[in-house]
Amino acid sequence: MPDASEPCWLERTRLQRLLDVLLERGFEVHGPVLRDGATLFAPVQRVAELAAGWRDEQTPGGYSLEPCGEARTFGVVSGPGALKPFVFAPHEPLLQVRMDGPGSSFEAEPVLPEGHKVAVLGARACDLAALAVQDRIFLRGRFPDPHYAVRRRALFTIGVSCTRSVSTCFCTSQGTGPEVTGGYDLALTELAEGFVVRFGSPEGEDLVGALGLPIASEEALRRERSDLDACAEGIERALDSGDLRDLLYANLGHPRWEEVGERCLGCGNCTMVCPTCFCHDQRDEPALDGAASLRVREWDSCFNPEHSQIHGINFRARVRDRYRQWLVHKLAGWVDQFDTSGCVGCGRCITWCPVGIDLTEEVDAIRRTEGAS
Ligand code: SF4
Ligand code: SF4
Repeated sequence: MPDASEPCWLERTRLQRLLDVLLERGFEVHGPVLRDGATLFAPVQRVAELAAGWRDEQTPGGYSLEPCGEARTFGVVSGPGALKPFVFAPHEPLLQVRMDGPGSSFEAEPVLPEGHKVAVLGARACDLAALAVQDRIFLRGRFPDPHYAVRRRALFTIGVSCTRSVSTCFCTSQGTGPEVTGGYDLALTELAEGFVVRFGSPEGEDLVGALGLPIASEEALRRERSDLDACAEGIERALDSGDLRDLLYANLGHPRWEEVGERCLGCGNCTMVCPTCFCHDQRDEPALDGAASLRVREWDSCFNPEHSQIHGINFRARVRDRYRQWLVHKLAGWVDQFDTSGCVGCGRCITWCPVGIDLTEEVDAIRRTEGAS
């Protein structure tokens, strides 16, 4: 068995074997598939179901797919979905409340997910970095979240390093990509004939052993390095994050917030696609007979007016207030709260914003005209 310092080699024709072993071990395997003009992580059993032979073009407010003319399995960099739904479910029950009859006392029982085993194939470096950020919040905060913990324990991640980027990526500024360097069980880099494979956990090591993979050749590793470096060098979008926290806190009255508030639709798309945003709401779903009620948690967005509605007042009534809250919290407040930026540079909020608002441009505009308020 190769040791952790020795990358292995998986022939392209043997990728199905990797899926087969995961399925035999009881994992529900999710990989990037074509869906409604984009890619999404969805359950797969065959390599043929993956979005092979396609590539994505992403611009502010734009996403398109086109055939890439080569046999790349992971030619599409990303779709709107990341790893977030696998651990922080969009909608899930938290508590079941039951009453025996009118006037009687009630019982409340926590409802935990079953934690069935899920393997995600094709997570990008920024996705894994976002997962690490969410782990910090949901697992290592003052109040660890048991629902997140159950799902997280059952998650097996197979990262794929990026050998191409799209125009909205800026992982290099955030130190999160394009190479998968941590937080994975297995990591792949796709070359023309196959994949360089590394393991990052005992479970990943066991899988490599079961596949009986040979050591990767010097030539494969040389080409891998060259492809990864070229990808990193090709990323042009940047976020200068050196003094970002202080810059934003010092410019809460900057006129740019008014300007971006005029363009922003307040739709919340940016928060839904963001792999780290965790705003949520809790509400009760009472049964019709009044004898039971289910407390559920579901994703919410700081762009929803109701999210800032308390006791008859809305403390972020204008769209500009909500945009400012999102950006300043993500890039400055998180540093104070969680000792990390809330942004991993995946670019999804730029691509999936219907009017193409780009947070790197907004920060730049404030930086260029600091103190303009
Ligand atoms: S703020 Fe935008 S670029 Fe940053 S992690 Fe969220 S979606 Fe990605
Ligand atoms: S920044 Fe864009 S995606 Fe986010 S709420 Fe505004 S219009 Fe919607």
